[in-house]
Amino acid sequence: MESLIKSLDSLYCDSLTQYSRRKTIPVRVGDVIIGGDNHIVVQSMTTVDTMDTRGSVEQCIRMIDSGCELIRITAPSLKEAENLKNIKAELRKRGYQTPLVADIHFTPNAAELAARIVEKVRINPGNYADKKKFEVIDYTDASYAEELERIRERFLPLVKICKENGTAMRIGTNHGSLSDRIMSRYGDTPLGMVESALEFLRICEDEKFHDIVISMKSSNTQVMVQAYRLLVQKLNEGGFKPYPLHLGVTEAGEAEDGRIKSAVGIGTLLEDGLGDTVRVSLTEDPEFEAPVAKALIDRYTHRAKHASIPEVVNYPITPFEHNKRQVAEIYNFGGHNVPRVITDISKVENISDREMKAVGHFYLPELDKWKMNDLGCDFVYSGSNPIPFMLPNGMKEIQNYSVWEKAPDQVNKFPLFSLSEYQKAEIFHSEINFLEVLDTEITDTISAIQGRKDTILILKTSNTHSMPALRRGFVSLIEAGSDIPVVVKVSYPDQTADMTMLYSATDVGGLLVDGLGDGILISLEKEGEHTRQEVLDQIKLHNSVSFGVLQAARTRMSKTEYISCPSCGRTLFDLQETTAMIRKRTDHLKGVKIGIMGCIVNGPGEMADADYGYVGSGKGKITLYKGKEVVKRSVPSEKAVDELIEIIREDGMWNEPEAI
Ligand code: SF4
Repeated sequence: MESLIKSLDSLYCDSLTQYSRRKTIPVRVGDVIIGGDNHIVVQSMTTVDTMDTRGSVEQCIRMIDSGCELIRITAPSLKEAENLKNIKAELRKRGYQTPLVADIHFTPNAAELAARIVEKVRINPGNYADKKKFEVIDYTDASYAEELERIRERFLPLVKICKENGTAMRIGTNHGSLSDRIMSRYGDTPLGMVESALEFLRICEDEKFHDIVISMKSSNTQVMVQAYRLLVQKLNEGGFKPYPLHLGVTEAGEAEDGRIKSAVGIGTLLEDGLGDTVRVSLTEDPEFEAPVAKALIDRYTHRAKHASIPEVVNYPITPFEHNKRQVAEIYNFGGHNVPRVITDISKVENISDREMKAVGHFYLPELDKWKMNDLGCDFVYSGSNPIPFMLPNGMKEIQNYSVWEKAPDQVNKFPLFSLSEYQKAEIFHSEINFLEVLDTEITDTISAIQGRKDTILILKTSNTHSMPALRRGFVSLIEAGSDIPVVVKVSYPDQTADMTMLYSATDVGGLLVDGLGDGILISLEKEGEHTRQEVLDQIKLHNSVSFGVLQAARTRMSKTEYISCPSCGRTLFDLQETTAMIRKRTDHLKGVKIGIMGCIVNGPGEMADADYGYVGSGKGKITLYKGKEVVKRSVPSEKAVDELIEIIREDGMWNEPEAI
């Protein structure tokens, strides 16, 4: 894949170091313009039945009030497409001009009708002209060309209607619903996703239809990031127009996990100036999506004014596939170890054993024993507030060098040095020393660590263009041939819990996706007066966000992963309630991926790489999957969770939850 990076000129973004938004053509969608010099547009999708006009209109209004600028509504058949007319008319009557987008899967006739009614139509190139049969077909070039001709015939009428009516179009590829044709030729790869869109884009360009936005969604953040980057590179190389991009992570889930996963995927691309419209998909009411999208986007309003970062001349990182940076194994960092979590507790004086539950370690006084949950951190950073009791085996303490130097126990505690301390120090820990440096100190750092096999770097930056500044630090280390493990440290003084979650997911997740980083440390630097409990709550948040970011970037699985669809007018059960119920019974199954999908039309495809699937297949009926294979059909919903657990049990993946 390295050959895809022919030179920095054909890279996927304007600059790896200076924030610069990719120049795209403007696409008008009613009163909203996507791309060009326009702001990044927030959009979302309704979840009520499209035939429920009143319910749809009321939900649209709640979404608009929460900051949504473009609303997508599913149109699974002609009758729903027809009803878009009523929804639109009622919204306009009530004074709302927000453009509407019809979401189409499998039904060209619904698309052709909707394109005459609403301002934009989204088609899925994986299923617009193809029914999924999961067949592997050995195409010759001639039979492949015949297939493309068939697509052209099926798709041309829609292109013509869009042109005549001034209707925009999104060619929205989904990783989980690629056609058998694309799967047979490219597999479910980022390249397959890109080609899937290009097949349809070429037809549009032949017809001189350019009101197009493109998306490359996946619930796998690595695949999603790679596919968007590759799309841009292919558009540039293929001489296509620079079409605007719609960014999204599919089936991100709910609550903290959904937000973190969305930020890892969407934020990583926004950092490099990609993206003209954003939808955050959460398994929550849609009015909760726009504020998250807006929070991600708003970070870039003044980004271009950041301090300068040395340019990258040769880029040693492969942006189109995940390759972990090769690092030495030092203690339990680097090598084949998972990235480590260091949790900062340095603002708590005399922390007690019971307060360690904030970092996932529980002291049970009756038994005089420690237990750990799935979010038990690997290290705590106590700064200048040494921990006054013995830690359980496995968890280690990092102290400031000035404290460690005088500590009675220099074996079981590890020192953290600044660069000047490290350069002058006479004593070091024999196994592991932590060296905290800024990205701007990287040249001196490289000289200081030369030949050392006992040091872990903690890399941080004060640059507002954080992720690229940190990434530049990694580039310098790679160029210098250093294989030192690196923990990425981020801090967000004065930010709310929600912002800390989104920003750290973007800044650290963006690096992890590219195989950079051997650990995470979210600094506890909130200023002002806080009660001890508030500080402990913040520690708990940082600890769980750290694990969440590692999981969302697919570098360390510490919890069950739920790939739940955001729901839409097709949904056959209450997704939020069902997800909560399944989570309650299964959230101890570390690393197991469970897809929870509202309908059988798109669900099986969209849950892509889930290990087990719970999919609505009729009113009160659930079809259960093991991977892509149907195991039980039409299970009554009241029995479906038990049956799902039974399937997991039969598969040997079940264990009983442990009480803590
Ligand atoms: S999987 Fe969920 S979001 Fe996707 S079409 Fe079905 S119900 Fe709608």
